[in-house]
Amino acid sequence: MAILDIARMGHPILKGRSHEVTNFDDPELHTFIDDMKETMVHAGGVGLAAPQVYVPLRIVIFFVPEGRDGGAAVPMTVMINPVIKPVSDAMAEDWEGCLSVPYLTGVVPRWTQIKYSYQDVDGSLRERSAEGFHARVVQHETDHLDGVLYPMRMIDIATLSFTDAQADDEEEDLEDGESDDETLEHEAETDVPERDAAEPAL
Ligand SMILES: [Zn+2]
Repeated sequence: MAILDIARMGHPILKGRSHEVTNFDDPELHTFIDDMKETMVHAGGVGLAAPQVYVPLRIVIFFVPEGRDGGAAVPMTVMINPVIKPVSDAMAEDWEGCLSVPYLTGVVPRWTQIKYSYQDVDGSLRERSAEGFHARVVQHETDHLDGVLYPMRMIDIATLSFTDAQADDEEEDLEDGESDDETLEHEAETDVPERDAAEPAL
């Protein structure tokens, strides 16, 4: 087991299309997946895609913590060669972070309900339905396999924020006795949930 280096936005490995996995008997594949798990846990993330650790293969790991969106937990899942289909056109906006885009967070639209298929570590085909945060994580991670980072999906780039900036703003508001940021007020009028500074990265 080893903790791997995580590529950051701007590195070419994050921009290309990763390759399908075809040999599920390769012991190196299983060692690598174990290293991905250890790396994700070490980084405090809930999802990690192989190109984020400089390996251009279509491999993703993720889990959904219990109580997220009021939904059930999804245990640690290894998805190989994943394919996503939206169930409807419905989309929702919410905050996302990314281990390859450290210290930042932004509002990203995603399909709210999807079906997805993938191969597990043995190469067996699996199918699942997902909604809410579960669906969001799967879309975020699968995007990594096609060279797409969440800022490229953002509609309102003005929401791109440092994760620790909001707490500072609130302190200033208390001192000034007034709000100094109209965009924050506009945000509150939309359906975008309030940002949680402890949001895990993907
Ligand atoms: Zn990410």
